[in-house]
Amino acid sequence: MSDYTRLPSAFLIAGTSYPAVALPLDPSWLAIARSKGFDILGRVVDRYRCVLRCHDCRTPAVVRINVMRDHAPLCHACIQRRRAAAAKAIGAELIAADAQHRHYGHFRLPCDHVVRRQYLRVEKAAAGGHAIDCPACRETRYGTEAQAFGWNLAGKAKGRRPGYRRYRHRCGHRQDVSIGNMAWGDTSCGGCAANWAGKPSFIYLFRIDLPGLPVVKLGYSARPAKRLRHQLGIARGIKTEILRVMLLPSGNVAVREESACHRTMRERHAGLIVPKATFGDAINTQGEIYHAAALEVLHGLLDDVALRLPQTDVDATSCATSSTPSGSTAVTSPRNLRRRMSTHRP
Ligand SMILES: [Zn+2]
Ligand SMILES: [Zn+2]
Ligand SMILES: [Zn+2]
Repeated sequence: MSDYTRLPSAFLIAGTSYPAVALPLDPSWLAIARSKGFDILGRVVDRYRCVLRCHDCRTPAVVRINVMRDHAPLCHACIQRRRAAAAKAIGAELIAADAQHRHYGHFRLPCDHVVRRQYLRVEKAAAGGHAIDCPACRETRYGTEAQAFGWNLAGKAKGRRPGYRRYRHRCGHRQDVSIGNMAWGDTSCGGCAANWAGKPSFIYLFRIDLPGLPVVKLGYSARPAKRLRHQLGIARGIKTEILRVMLLPSGNVAVREESACHRTMRERHAGLIVPKATFGDAINTQGEIYHAAALEVLHGLLDDVALRLPQTDVDATSCATSSTPSGSTAVTSPRNLRRRMSTHRP
């Protein structure tokens, strides 16, 4: 079966008429075309084009002669058939080529949703025996997972963190939660929960005098003194000091404010950041360590938090109830700190 018709003056191919051009075919072209999987049927449109017919599927197509001669002409019918077969192998159906981008097509998935996907990805999925993930069904699944723990999916995350969504708790409170944590119910409501995220928490500023490298650490914790003494793995004998502690209404707020401070430091004071490679294992943390010179900037950021959330500065001594075994943790109360800072400032 052939889906073209040769008229004296034209080729009819897939419903379109291409005027034949009365120029001879170079005898060498027949062999060249055959070696590339095609028969050459004639010349059309202008002196640069010919009609090729695929040996595999017998579909004719108009192709530039130089492409036929010097390159590897492709049979688009065969390619589309291969893509459709790949889609079928994973239960999908290729329903249209994408008008914007030749590497993309539209596929109807087994769930009946239609998605735009790169052909290559679909063929890879078929070769590996994977299904194509349906974004619409995925969001529905996230919603179902959340419902098991009293939450509803409320759309995209407010923040731009990937892997997060906005969820609404049954109390009405909304917050961003990582999809992975929600799947395990590993979250608590900043609006009503009686556990960590809902309980008061602290932002702290520690000074850690590593040998030859005095640094400060900004972080959050429900128990800053415990964090400094037992969780950061700081060697005995190294002088540490709790410089400032701020009480925030909830763990969620503490995380939010602390993250905002780190973001500001990254964006505006990247030079004050001490890379992990520099402090290494001396402090058991991945980051959030700054040169001591950053202190003024960090205090300024915390002052801004205090302005927005009044009554947050607390007496740091209340966070360090007992001395460390090495006796090296000192505490500066906010009042002393203010006095000290005011001597630094104009
Ligand atoms: Zn073909
Ligand atoms: Zn779906
Ligand atoms: Zn709640």
